Amino acid sequence: MKNIRIEMKIIISVIFFTLLLVGLQRYEITQNISEQFITSKKDKNTLLLNTISPTIGLNLSLGLNDANKEYLDQIINQNSDMEALSLTTTNGKNLYRYFKNPNKKPKKECCEIDSSNKLIIDPVTGEILATLHAKFDDHEYQMMLKNNQITTYKVFIITLVLLALFLIFLKREFRFLKELTRNVLQYDPVLNNFPLQKSNKVDEVGIIHNAFISMVEKIHLHSKLLDNVNQSLELKIQERTQELEQANRQLKELSLTDSLTQLSNRRSFETYFKDIYRLAQRNQIEISVIMCDIDHFKQINDTHGHIAGDMVLKEFAHIMKESLNRGSDFIARYGGEEFVIILYDANSNDAKELCIKIQNNLKDFQNFESQWGKIDVITMSFGIASIVPMEQDRCENLIVSADIALYKAKNEGRNRIVIL
Ligand code: GH3
Ligand code: MG
Ligand code: MG
Repeated sequence: MKNIRIEMKIIISVIFFTLLLVGLQRYEITQNISEQFITSKKDKNTLLLNTISPTIGLNLSLGLNDANKEYLDQIINQNSDMEALSLTTTNGKNLYRYFKNPNKKPKKECCEIDSSNKLIIDPVTGEILATLHAKFDDHEYQMMLKNNQITTYKVFIITLVLLALFLIFLKREFRFLKELTRNVLQYDPVLNNFPLQKSNKVDEVGIIHNAFISMVEKIHLHSKLLDNVNQSLELKIQERTQELEQANRQLKELSLTDSLTQLSNRRSFETYFKDIYRLAQRNQIEISVIMCDIDHFKQINDTHGHIAGDMVLKEFAHIMKESLNRGSDFIARYGGEEFVIILYDANSNDAKELCIKIQNNLKDFQNFESQWGKIDVITMSFGIASIVPMEQDRCENLIVSADIALYKAKNEGRNRIVIL
């Protein structure tokens, strides 16, 4: 019953209750008619026997048996529903016997109207003379029952026709409800596919339909508003993302750049060096590292101050960067007044050539007149190490080698290039 649709529930209930009501009423009517019929028929039969019994009693007491027979024949003729009639004396002698149809099997008595007995009493002595037994056919009763049955069938047929009409009407009403349900189920706020034509119906279905339309219109309006909000949000997010990307780029540059010299810093160098070393290892390409250190830089600081020292560091960095030949040549501030250069696909001679170029370019910087006074001879020492890295070689060793070469250059009197 749980799974049956509401439409079916209504239909089943209406059919059930209607048939039950009609059935009950028909039953009651049949009972009433039957009762009334039986009473009236019984009264009629009793009246008949009561009417004829005094005459029969008189005839019997006078011994007029033939007159009795004639009288009873007359009675039979006048009452076509009489099926049998018998007159039997108290000592069992049969004085009169009539059977409408002698061959017909005597059937069981169906009801009280079938037969009646009447005692015949002597009008003079009051003594019981005989018993009059009358049997009536129930033809009329059966006819009445049949007619009543036909009427019941008619009533049922009319009821079924009315129910069928009711079902058609109900189905028609439910069609709107089904259509509305389908539209609601298929409704997609993105497609806005709910039919927005208002219903002219003023019943509940029409009211619900129109209520749905105004709800859909509100949803549509709100989704439009939401779309606008979303769009402006997306724009804002785009703007913020761009700003964030810009800030990230700047931050990355800052984290990879030395703030004083604007060269790559030590961190940036380490990442780049590991990558380029792995590449040289894989491709079996020679790679050179130059460690450079400004000679007697402390003196500049001591003589002219730290700001002058910073200025010299900046100038050195600039000259060195400008001296690089190829796009793949990489320079970084290694720390303090120490710099490192990586040359990919370059041997020690190539590295030395670059060092000489730097030394030459630095000559322009000799005896530099600064606002802090004249800065005398400024030179640089270089340590070079080169390698075609094998599988087992570690990149740190190349730095160590270049460092050793630089140390040697310092020890040998500075302002020189040492290849290890
Ligand atoms: P050497 O020829 O042996 O290299 O002598 P040096 O004086 O250059 O080397 P030392 O290691 O004795 O001194 C390096 C100095 O560099 C000491 C330090 O104060 C200075 N220095 C390091 N970083 C900076 C910096 O960023 N700015 C300034 N002005 N000085 C720095
Ligand atoms: Mg130094
Ligand atoms: Mg140093």
